[in-house]
Parts: sequence; C-alpha cells; structure tokens
Amino acid sequence: MTNLSADPVDFLLTAVRLGVINEYQGLFALDILQEILMGTQKIHTTRQNMGLLDPAKINIIANGHMPLVAQTVIELASRPEWQDKARAAGAAGIQVLGHVCEGQQLMNYGGTQDMAAYGGQEGEWLSEEYLLATGCVDLFMFNYNCTVPTLPLYAKRFGATLVSTHEVIKLPGTETVEFIPERMSEQAGKILAMALEAYGRRKAENRQIYVPPYTTECTVGFSTEPVKAALGGTWQPLLDAIANGSIRGIATVVGCTTARYGQGGSNIFRIAKGLIAKDILVLAGGCTSAVMEYTGLTRPEAAEECGPGLKAVCRSLGIPPVLSYGACVDIGKMTHTAVELADALGVDTDKLPLVIGAPEYLEQKAVADACTAIALGWLVHVAPVPSVTGSDLVVKTLTETTATLGLGKLMVELSADKTVAIYADHIEQKRKELGLSSGPVH
Ligand code: SF4
Repeated sequence: MTNLSADPVDFLLTAVRLGVINEYQGLFALDILQEILMGTQKIHTTRQNMGLLDPAKINIIANGHMPLVAQTVIELASRPEWQDKARAAGAAGIQVLGHVCEGQQLMNYGGTQDMAAYGGQEGEWLSEEYLLATGCVDLFMFNYNCTVPTLPLYAKRFGATLVSTHEVIKLPGTETVEFIPERMSEQAGKILAMALEAYGRRKAENRQIYVPPYTTECTVGFSTEPVKAALGGTWQPLLDAIANGSIRGIATVVGCTTARYGQGGSNIFRIAKGLIAKDILVLAGGCTSAVMEYTGLTRPEAAEECGPGLKAVCRSLGIPPVLSYGACVDIGKMTHTAVELADALGVDTDKLPLVIGAPEYLEQKAVADACTAIALGWLVHVAPVPSVTGSDLVVKTLTETTATLGLGKLMVELSADKTVAIYADHIEQKRKELGLSSGPVH
C-alpha cells in the first residue's frame, strides 16, 4: 500500500506495538463491556454437542462473535408468551443454541446460563454444514466472522432460514435484521417470528431429520474473576503450585480449527493431551474450546490424563486440567489473567512460564492476537505455516529479532509431539530464570 511504511522491519515492529492496543482497546475492552451487559463468566457443568438439538422443538442457532442479539432472543424466547406461541404452532417449545465463539460466550456468561430457552452449545465452525444437514435447524442467525459461504446451499436443501444480524455480513438470498441496540427487543421478536414460520414449513414438509445422539459433559465458565474466586480470592494457591513444581507452567491454546490435519481439532487435542501429561495447565479459547469440550478434556475426570502434579491440583480443586475461557476474543481475559499473575509475582509478563499457541489458526484475528502476545513477551506458536515465508527478513524478524528486543517471538511447528516438547522446554527455561525448581517434584 502507498500510505503505510514499506520498511518490513519497521512495519512489523509497528504491528507488534499495535498488539498492545489490540488487547486494551480491542479484546479486553470488548470482553469487559460484554460482561457488564451479560454477566461475568460463572464456572458450571453443562453439556454440549449436536445431540442437544431437539426435533420436537423449534431450534434456533446463534453463530458468530457478538452475542448481544442472541442473548436478547434467548431472553424473549424464555417468556411464557413465546413458548405458548411455539406450542400453538405444534412444537414442544422453542430453544436457542449457541455455536462457534458466540456460543462459547453464551455458555459462559452468568446472565444466559439459567434462561429457560437457552439450549446449550453446539460446536466449532467446521460443523456448520452438518448442523443444517440434521434437518431440524429452523433458523440460523449469524453476525461477524465464521459463517461459511456455502451455507445458503445447505439452507435451501435442508430448509433452514438464514438471518444475518449485522450489515457487515450478508449471504446471497438471506435476510438481514440489522443490529440496532435501541431496537434489540423488537428485532428479537422478528427473529422469533421467522423461526416459527420456518418451523411451520418443516412440519408441512414432514422433513426427514437425523440428530446425532451425542453430547458431552463439560465444566466451563473460567475467566480471571471466577478462577481467582475459586482459589479463595487470591492467586497465591496457583502461584504456590507453580513454585513447587506441581504445575510447571501455563499454555494458552487458542483459536480456530482446521481440517488440514484430518478431523478438525485433532492437532489441538494431541497437543493438549501431551501438555497436561507434562503437568502444564492449559487454557482454551475459540473453536479450540469446543475441541476440548467434545473430547472430554474440560471434565474434572480428565485429571486422570495428567502428570502427577497437575492431577493432584485438579483433584483437590475439582477442576479440569483444561480451563475453557470461551471464545477467541476471550484471549483478552486470558491476557488479563496472565497480567494479574505477573503482578502478583512482581515480575514483568515476559518472565512468566507461559506459552501461547494457535495450533490450527485460520482467521485474520490471529495475526492481531499474535502481535499482542509478542508485545507482552511471550513465545507464540502457530500452525499451519503463515504466508510470510517469501521473505527471509520477515521470517527472521518474527522468529528471532523481536526476542532480542525484549519482546516475545513467533515459532512455527506442525508436529504435535515436537510442539509439546518446545512448549515444555520454554516453560522450564522460564522457571530457571525465575529460580523455580528445575525438575518435576514427583
Ligand atoms: S475460533 Fe476461529 S473459526 Fe472459531 S469462531 Fe472464532 S474466529 Fe471463527
């Protein structure tokens, strides 16, 4: 471009500097504002996956990254008048289920969890087409990011109504109910009326339905405040566990899923299993959270898969070894937790025994988030290979030079086993620099 710096090193270092802004004017600000409106995360046990679809009910899916409209739809649908309308149309009721990152937030926020019409969480972005193919999704509402462009074909074939709730994303032949905060209740009513109509068509067609009968239990709702509260209002128990070596360090495994490694999420799963076996506590965010949920790693019983140190900590606190912080935008809250830990230790963020990984990254947001992590001094692992390899200078700047400036650095590794080893080595190196025990306590 003509109006930006064309010096690649200056350009990249500026991007890293903007990473700080990405955290404090973007992610963290967004998270906090949403929590003010929708309630802070609350740790609880729930179920997720496609088996939550109920053919007898009107099923609405909320997809995207901005859960305000969806929460208003759930609130309205929870009222007896709308449940009565659903019954009058011949359904057993009406339920709204979350999907992708928006769903992770709906599942985690304390304000949504107990609403009667909230049906739970579906899955990660790769399952959108399968969801519609069940034949019993009546309405699929979506906003920013991660609605696949093939969806209108599936909606036509399997009968779902698609509704964009923001002007920034439109798909061919679908309706838009544009997000206007002052008119959200009215808009939610319109969306519910469209779902009722769609259900009427499903009944009239006597549509064939298949719902895979699978759900998984998961413990979710982790974030800075609920984790600190669960520890007794202080980070000290976690810091003690890190200091005595029961927990070697923390890996935040975040971001999207890709089918490049086979089943979406399979690399994420292998890495997470390898990390907890080495007593490294894992925080998850984004579609990565869905992978951790449907593979059972967010159940307290997953403690059995851990090394002895982390297993003992999880057992004593009754927590899983993978803590789901929710959406990819909840990286803002993970960073917040890390900053609080660094403050409690009296060190700068780059001293923490911490690694950030996006093992199946996809969305452009990952680039901004990687800049945030590098700015805060962390090792950032990404896979697949980012499209920067055409320039040796760019590769060197991102993988070496930034670290010489007291920043973090980027690391690319495709093998799950090697990734686990690199994370563990980095964490042990950071422990050494902090003067913490070098070998496992067990
Ligand atoms: S994690 Fe990635 S793929 Fe999943 S919803 Fe967020 S941006 Fe989309």
